[in-house]
Amino acid sequence: MNMNRRNALKIGAVGVAAAAVSTLTGCNNASATPAAGTCATTAGKKNVLGKHQIVVIGGGFGGLTVAKGLKKKDSKFDVLVIEKNDTFMSCPFSNAYLGKLEGLNLGTFIFDYAQPVEAHGYSMLRSEVIGIDRVAKEVHTAAGIVQYDILVLSPGIDYDYENQFPTFSKEKIADLKRNAPGALIPGSEHVALDRMLKNMEDGDVVITVPSGKFRCPPAPFERASMIAAYMKKEDIAGKVIILNPGKDIAKGAAFKESWKELYGDKVVHMDFCKIDDVDTDGKTISFTQKIPTGKKDADGFDIMKEEKKSHKYAVLNLIPNNKANGVVKMSGVEVTKDSFGKVLMNGCSFQTKTDKDIYAVGDVVGHGVPPSGQTAVWTGQQCVEEIAHRLHGKPYELLVKTTTINAGNVCYSMVGDKPEEAIMVTHDFSWTGAVINGAAKVPKGPDGKFRSAATAKANRDWYRGIMADLFN
Ligand SMILES: Cc1cc2nc3c(=O)[nH]c(=O)nc-3n(C[C@H](O)[C@H](O)[C@H](O)COP(=O)(O)OP(=O)(O)OC[C@H]3O[C@@H](n4cnc5c(N)ncnc54)[C@H](O)[C@@H]3O)c2cc1C
Repeated sequence: MNMNRRNALKIGAVGVAAAAVSTLTGCNNASATPAAGTCATTAGKKNVLGKHQIVVIGGGFGGLTVAKGLKKKDSKFDVLVIEKNDTFMSCPFSNAYLGKLEGLNLGTFIFDYAQPVEAHGYSMLRSEVIGIDRVAKEVHTAAGIVQYDILVLSPGIDYDYENQFPTFSKEKIADLKRNAPGALIPGSEHVALDRMLKNMEDGDVVITVPSGKFRCPPAPFERASMIAAYMKKEDIAGKVIILNPGKDIAKGAAFKESWKELYGDKVVHMDFCKIDDVDTDGKTISFTQKIPTGKKDADGFDIMKEEKKSHKYAVLNLIPNNKANGVVKMSGVEVTKDSFGKVLMNGCSFQTKTDKDIYAVGDVVGHGVPPSGQTAVWTGQQCVEEIAHRLHGKPYELLVKTTTINAGNVCYSMVGDKPEEAIMVTHDFSWTGAVINGAAKVPKGPDGKFRSAATAKANRDWYRGIMADLFN
């Protein structure tokens, strides 16, 4: 049974009611043991919604690129996207919204999924994926079961509060999510953080940086710049304090130059800070900072001492550690052994190493490419080529035959307002024989500065272009 476009959208609308009567057992779901391919049955009648040639999990940058690209390659391809949110909300450019740059409003970030469904002719099921059965080739959703020939994973990230704060209770984590939103995942957190900034009186804004791999490494630092711009514009007395678990800052020299020249001592970056506790009633964050003693050990390394500190804040943006979205674990495909758990890929392909019928794109991809929206689009496009050739029965030479790949990433960060200025990083991708890697460059302009108004304009143009490409 195939679902057509209109039926799929209808099923999306009744999904919640269906979820109430469907009890799944034995699934690779978020709470079950993640043994591969063990999800098979429902208690009572199997609630199969339909079968699709290609099912894409996640209607974000990667997933929408795959769906659109496949329909453009061949309008007969039967493609279904499963997405849990009702509307698309963009993370890229959301920091500029916090900075209240001219002309930006919520409408700049929120898009209606019906638009690309109509424009490109793929189907969409609005429901949450709760399990995957690789043996039966089924995706279990809150609305029922969807069967597939080929599955594409593009579910993005999850937060990892539990491993970062093993002593915090579920209630405390829920309190942190509410009162100190991470705003690294599309949805209401960005809106909540914006409300907190709008309501703040004088005081400090604290931003914490995750450790390990995380989505868009420049994002916390761009956010610090934009909040500083907002506070300056609104004449709010206070600082923006960044608590970094290490010392690295993506685009570090460029951010530091901008902070110093645009905000004086308003942006404070603190190295080697481990968060110990947060009191959201008292609006206080406690942390331990490692500080060099000025002495070296026998191997020439700095000897550090630990200092316990606490800081009162007006607004806290606690960005927790990241991990691959739980959908990856549900699929049972092999992942990297680090705390993030990226999907292991089949050579320089976008097919997973574990399962020939499961592909992965976007932030969860196991290549060494930066986790950005731009890269999610690029990985999506490569995945489209592979799947389309396969379904047309044609041989496909993977794009990487030499070490150089004619592709890359560009990622802009807004740093200033009035005049609007931005910095950028580019990545050239190459195949090392193990994974596809990206080498970063942070260019300066002809005046010797990292930031420029021209880069800010390029940022706005990039955002307009990428959104038009996904939605029109
Ligand atoms: C503040 C910020 C600024 C950024 N700025 C830039 C930038 O300037 N340039 C740039 O290139 N990148 C930027 N990024 C990074 C970019 O947003 C991500 O890299 C990109 O969104 C990754 O695409 P994706 O498809 O992997 O994941 P996403 O775009 O997050 O899409 C994943 C989708 O899967 C859905 N989903 C998850 N779980 C389920 C489930 N169980 N069932 C159904 N659906 C599910 C989610 O709702 C979501 O819609 C920024 C990120 C942040 C946070």
